Amino acid sequence: MNSQLRFFAEDADSVPVSLGRTRFVTREARSILTKASGFMAGYDFTLNPYSGCAYGCTYCYAAFFAHDEERRDAWGEWVEVKQNAVELLQRMRTDLNCKTVYMSSVTDPYQLIERRLGMVRRLLKILASRGVRLVVQTRSPLVTRDIDLLSRFEAVQVNITVTTDSEEVRKAFEPDCPPNKARLDAARTVASAGIPTVITMTPLLPVADAAGFSRDLLQVGAIRYVVQPFHAEKGRFIRGTRDAALQITSSMGWDEYSYAATVKMLREHLPGVREGQEGFVPIWLQEQ
Ligand code: SF4
Repeated sequence: MNSQLRFFAEDADSVPVSLGRTRFVTREARSILTKASGFMAGYDFTLNPYSGCAYGCTYCYAAFFAHDEERRDAWGEWVEVKQNAVELLQRMRTDLNCKTVYMSSVTDPYQLIERRLGMVRRLLKILASRGVRLVVQTRSPLVTRDIDLLSRFEAVQVNITVTTDSEEVRKAFEPDCPPNKARLDAARTVASAGIPTVITMTPLLPVADAAGFSRDLLQVGAIRYVVQPFHAEKGRFIRGTRDAALQITSSMGWDEYSYAATVKMLREHLPGVREGQEGFVPIWLQEQ
C-alpha cells in the first residue's frame, strides 16, 4: 500500500483502520449520486457509498475504475468511506421522485464495513422518503438487515449475486465473499418478505452440477435470473476481466461451450432467465 493511502488511513477517526486485509480510509465526496451512463444507461443515477470493495473479487471490472494502477492492483485491500454521503443526499435539491437509482455499480453497498457504519441504512431512509425507485446490487446477506426499509419503497428490486454452486470455485475466484448458501438463504429471505428479488449470475463461474444448481436457485423464489459471461474484451464502459480470473477459468476448463451448456440448462429449469445488459433493466420498466 502506498504512502498516500497510509496517510488517509491514519486520518480516519470513526472508521476502523483495517478489517482483515482491507485498510479503510475516509474522504469527503463531492457528490453522492452519479448520472448513469453506459451499461447503467437505463438508470437515472448510480449510488456508491464506498469506493473500492473489500470483497476484492478476482474478476471485478470495477477495479479498473480505481484512480491509479497501484490501487487497481491492490483491489480488495483498500476502501474509501464517503463520510459525507448522507449529508450530501440530504442536501441534494434535485427532484428524485420516480428517479431510478442503482446502488451500487462499482462497490458492494453491504460489504463488511457497512455492518459497523450503517451508512446504507441512513441513505435508504432518505431515498425512500424522496420517492426514489431503487435497485440494490449486492452479494451480502447483510441486505436482510434492511428489509424493513426496503419495504417502504414503492418500486424496489434487490439483485443478489450468486456466481456458482461450488464452494471450491467460489473460494478460487472470490475468497473474501460470503459463501454460496448464505447468499441463497439471504435471497430467499428477501423474496419471502415480498421484495422483488433477482439472482444475478454475473459473471457465471464454473458450475459443478447445473441441474442441482437450477433446483437450488428455483427455491429462492426470484422473479428473474440474469446470466453473463466474463467480459474478456476491452470496452469503453465495461473493462476487461482481470488476468487472474481468466487464468483460474482456464485452469478449470471453463470455456464458452461449458458456459453455453450451463445457460441452456438454467433456461430449461428457471423462469425469466435474461442474459447480459437486458437483465439489468429494472423490473418495473420491463413490465411496461
Ligand atoms: S463484490 Fe462486486 S464490486 Fe466488490 S469486488 Fe466483487 S464484483 Fe467487485
